[in-house]
Amino acid sequence: MKKSTECKASLLELTVERVATANLPTEIGDFRVAGYRSLISEEEFVVLFKGKMDRRHPTLVRIHSQCLTGDVFGSVKCDCGPQLQMAMKKIETEGRGAIVYQQQEGRGIGIVNKIRAYALQDEGADTVEANEKLGFAADAREYKQCAQILFDMGLCDVRVMSNNPKKIAAIEEAGLNVLERVSLEVDAEESASRYLRTKKEKMGHLLEFED
Ligand SMILES: [Zn+2]
Repeated sequence: MKKSTECKASLLELTVERVATANLPTEIGDFRVAGYRSLISEEEFVVLFKGKMDRRHPTLVRIHSQCLTGDVFGSVKCDCGPQLQMAMKKIETEGRGAIVYQQQEGRGIGIVNKIRAYALQDEGADTVEANEKLGFAADAREYKQCAQILFDMGLCDVRVMSNNPKKIAAIEEAGLNVLERVSLEVDAEESASRYLRTKKEKMGHLLEFED
């Protein structure tokens, strides 16, 4: 474990603001929910959290990118839904943690374009090839404001639940202290295995599974 240092994030100017906070009882447990908006774009964010937010307590956090098909419809083309559930369960078990839910559907290309990419995948392209055929970067997401939100929530020392090194780098660049990466590997359904292999081989995700 790295040693915790002064919170550098306090030097940054925040580009997000919290609008409201409320209770949100769920099937997994009782959470709180906060609504944030960006001060520099139309983007909105939701934070699902639980327990006391304390900068010096190494707190479980996740940046979760909206995946309508996986989070809501239970799609097995990807592992988003089970990852979100697992993150919520870990926070419920520890009694403390926060998930920033960012509305960057389909790695930032939007839901309709994601469905266009799925149509190309039906014809044999993998997830990276499909995005590139449509003229999008493989991953257009931006995580800086999500990290600012974690700071604004009152956090600094964090344990990040993610397999994505880009998210961890973004949190560190924003000045938070990443003390640990907590892996979120869920049992991949058969149809998701090709997607996960692409994530590992083409996008550098830190997945342990063997083909
Ligand atoms: Zn997904």
